[in-house]
Amino acid sequence: MGQKKTIVATASLAGCFGCHMSLLDIDERILSLIDLVDFDKSPINDIKKFTEYCDIGIIEGSCCNSENVNVLKDFRKNCRILISLGECAIMGGIPAMRNGIPIRECIEEAYLNGPSVKGHNPEMILPNDPELPMLLDKVYPCHDIVKIDYFLPGCPPSADLIYNALVALITGNEMKLPYEVIKYD
Ligand code: SF4
Repeated sequence: MGQKKTIVATASLAGCFGCHMSLLDIDERILSLIDLVDFDKSPINDIKKFTEYCDIGIIEGSCCNSENVNVLKDFRKNCRILISLGECAIMGGIPAMRNGIPIRECIEEAYLNGPSVKGHNPEMILPNDPELPMLLDKVYPCHDIVKIDYFLPGCPPSADLIYNALVALITGNEMKLPYEVIKYD
């Protein structure tokens, strides 16, 4: 009987999907990864709900609304190891640029006053369907909401970094972050 594969789940919260694209960018190494890994809940395979407890959860994006928080908490509950992938997950990233602006102003810019909407919403309607997730007061990095075990920096993190980190975790080796990905000069 073969070795049990590592079960990986992924989610995109408030992000641009670039981190997931980078994960797919590992090119032909995806074949060797498939020997080691099975994907559970993930936009990669469109599985919407967890089907089992997972070894590794990978989170792209920050938390800007109540749904992001629920998804993130669900990942923490269903994954042994949780990884923040990319600057949005680690620091809020681009979505957190709204943090210095009153939320009302953000909403009015998006739906009433922005150059792509001005004049196209004559009844001045702001989205108010109760089904819509509530915006948070500001955008939060993932570790502000749940415990995160590992952080992979970059916008997006390179395919090499993601691949090497996953292989290290799966094989029980130390996950190394090269100096180039954590330097600030
Ligand atoms: S870190 Fe960069 S690539 Fe990843 S979701 Fe955020 S903006 Fe997109």
